[in-house]
Formats: sequence, structure tokens, C-alpha cells
Amino acid sequence: MVARQSAAGPSPGAFMAEVIDATPGGDPHLELCVQCGTCGGSCPSGPDMEHTPRHLFAMIRAGMREEVLRSNTPWYCVSCYYCMVRCPQEIHITDIMYTLKRMAIKEGLYRESTAVAAPSFSETFIDFVNNYGRSFELGLATRYHLRHHPLSAVKMAGLGLGMVRKGRMDLTPKRIEGIEQLQAILAKARELAADSGPSTRGGAR
Ligand code: SF4
Ligand code: SF4
Repeated sequence: MVARQSAAGPSPGAFMAEVIDATPGGDPHLELCVQCGTCGGSCPSGPDMEHTPRHLFAMIRAGMREEVLRSNTPWYCVSCYYCMVRCPQEIHITDIMYTLKRMAIKEGLYRESTAVAAPSFSETFIDFVNNYGRSFELGLATRYHLRHHPLSAVKMAGLGLGMVRKGRMDLTPKRIEGIEQLQAILAKARELAADSGPSTRGGAR
């Protein structure tokens, strides 16, 4: 755990420490970012993102907490892992994007992000979870880009197939065991959300 508070208030490094601590799966090596920009150059969602992953990580380093948690960037991350494969510092970029989403939801800053204007993105994710019990990275990226950026979908196809060949990504979605139970839980959750009215449904997706 990194020290986060000085007498003058939170230090710029405090936010980075918070993000690192909140990212599951071990140290994501965020502090090792050398700002090379390889991640942004690999990212199929770059045109929609307010900040490239490189820029976002510089903002985290600078302690720009609210600006980072209001950024639409994590919400446009389609979990394709292209950036992670290419990052020379082996930074867990995709995992950090999930962490930032969780933090933005927890603090309600998600609602101030322009990502709320992209419901089709989260709908695609939810469709996969409903049908298979998990996200399907290749399908998520492909469906989103075919809908919004067909040319970039074609451009990224070769890279995606390379990752399938290396076993980094599945070519087809795999359904989890016990999907029926999960679907029953999700149906109940939808029922409860409907009963509690529109205020709860308008939250983070
Ligand atoms: S590729 Fe890795 S080291 Fe380079 S800017 Fe992105 S996160 Fe930082
Ligand atoms: S995992 Fe997310 S941030 Fe990385 S290249 Fe894919 S969409 Fe971009």
C-alpha cells in the first residue's frame, strides 16, 4: 500500500496508488508507463475516446481524479487486449480500464461522462452476459465497430485473428456452466429494477 496523504492534502501520486490498489489480479504496473503511445496507436476505439490510454495514464499520474473518472475512455474500451499485448512495459491496461469504470460508477461520475450517449455499447456487453454468462471480447469489439466504424473493423480483423491463433482470445463465445441460474438472477434483477422505478434504471450501465 502506497502512502496517499500529505499534510497539504492528497498528493498527485495518491490517485495512482488508489487505482493500482483497486485493480484485481496483482500489480498492474501502472507506474511503469513510459508514455510511448503504443497503446493508443493499437486501440480500435481511439476515435471515440476523449483521451487515449496513454493520456489517461498521464492524467492519473498528475492526480486528475475527477477528470479521469469523467472521461469516456474506459467506457469505450472493448476489452480487446490489443494494447496489453503491445505495451512494452506489460501494463495491465484493460484491467485498469475496468477499475476506472468501477470507480466512476461508485462515485456517480459516470453520469457526467459523454459515454452515457453510447447505449449501444453497453447493450452489446449486456447481450453477451445474458446469453453466455460472460463477456466475449472478439464479438464485443467486432459488433461495436461494425456498427460504428466499419472500416476500422476490417482493419483490426487481422490483429484479432492473430490473437485467436496465439490463444489470447476465443473465436466463438463460450457459455458458462449454470447459465440458466445466472439468467434467472438477471431476470429477477430486472424485475426488481422495474419495480423500483426509473430513478434506479437511469444509473450506470
Ligand atoms: S503502451 Fe504501455 S508504456 Fe506505452 S503509453 Fe501505453 S501504457 Fe504506457
Ligand atoms: S483493451 Fe481497451 S484500451 Fe486496449 S486497445 Fe482494446 S479497446 Fe483500446
